[in-house]
Amino acid sequence: ALTIAIVGLPNVGKSTLFNALTKNQVLAANYPFATIEPNVGVVNLPDPRLDVLATMFASEKVLPAPVSFVDIAGIVKGAAEGEGLGNKFLANIREADAIAEVVRGFADPDVVHVDGVVDPEADMGTINTELILADLETVEKALTRYEKELRLKKVEPTVYETAVAARDALQRGEALSATSLDLAPIKELGLLTAKPFIYVFNVDESVLTDPARKAALAALVAPAEAVFLDAKIESELIDLDPADAAELLASTGQEESGLDQLARIGFDTLGLQTYLTAGPKESRAWTIGKGWKAPQAAGVIHSDFEKGFIKAEVISFQDLVDTGSIAEARAHGVARIEGKEYVMQDGDVVEFRFNN
Ligand code: GDP
Repeated sequence: ALTIAIVGLPNVGKSTLFNALTKNQVLAANYPFATIEPNVGVVNLPDPRLDVLATMFASEKVLPAPVSFVDIAGIVKGAAEGEGLGNKFLANIREADAIAEVVRGFADPDVVHVDGVVDPEADMGTINTELILADLETVEKALTRYEKELRLKKVEPTVYETAVAARDALQRGEALSATSLDLAPIKELGLLTAKPFIYVFNVDESVLTDPARKAALAALVAPAEAVFLDAKIESELIDLDPADAAELLASTGQEESGLDQLARIGFDTLGLQTYLTAGPKESRAWTIGKGWKAPQAAGVIHSDFEKGFIKAEVISFQDLVDTGSIAEARAHGVARIEGKEYVMQDGDVVEFRFNN
């Protein structure tokens, strides 16, 4: 499954956020290094379209698309050299598809900051440096191996050359995602700074309700996406019924919870989209990549659907809502029969036809 790793300095609110994400109570203690083992939490991608479909089809179940998050221990200065918790958790980040970096913006003097002062920009710099150093170490190790393999013709020259270019960029202090390098040849190395990043600013209510301050923080990380939330409020929201939760959100100037935003932006950052299926048994969102064609999308439901793909009946969600039912959509000519070359669109409501 696709996963997003949560990273950040100690005491920035990672555990608090993760608790809210999973509705589990994992350890959230007020001291550095409280979280040591990686934990995985699965969050549903909020999708109001599913509720509409569930009503229309009188579905027994509603199954949204899951987004997985991995909580890992905090990064401290020197993490890349094996200080603090060291390389153990960097290995866990390597396997993630994207990284959500939690940055502390809340002031609370009762919560110790690992470097003594709350400074989001400096914190991001610290983490960036650690990730660049970790990547440098990985690439240098790989290069030693690639040099040998190149002599024995066991590796493509492009692999070696890409690794050299990556090393040079990292030595200049550049994150790999900020370079124009094609890193596909060295994908196996799982380089951290090559992954897509989302920045999660854990802030006070005063910042949540201050558009100018938020814009300034977002500008620091652009073109990466920024999510603003108050992890403490998020952990309270999960215990409230929907009406009370909406009221609490509104009182802090938010329309959508931070977790919902995070799931949505995370999904987008991973380059994913969903198509929908609906019927009396279930209304369900299926996760696919952007640009996928119909047979590949069918394969997400079952590999037989892909192998035996004949065609798909596709109605856009909006067309289905506008016409009111599949029969009406057909009558109005908005139910399309699509073939193998059809490129799936987000929110397509689909029924696949296939040979067994
Ligand atoms: P981690 O080390 O990054 O996992 O940080 P934790 O989630 O354990 O949080 C460290 C401390 O900060 C805990 O005492 C939390 O209750 C507190 N904390 C987390 N988020 C917030 C927040 O948004 N506002 C305030 N005031 N405290 C927070």
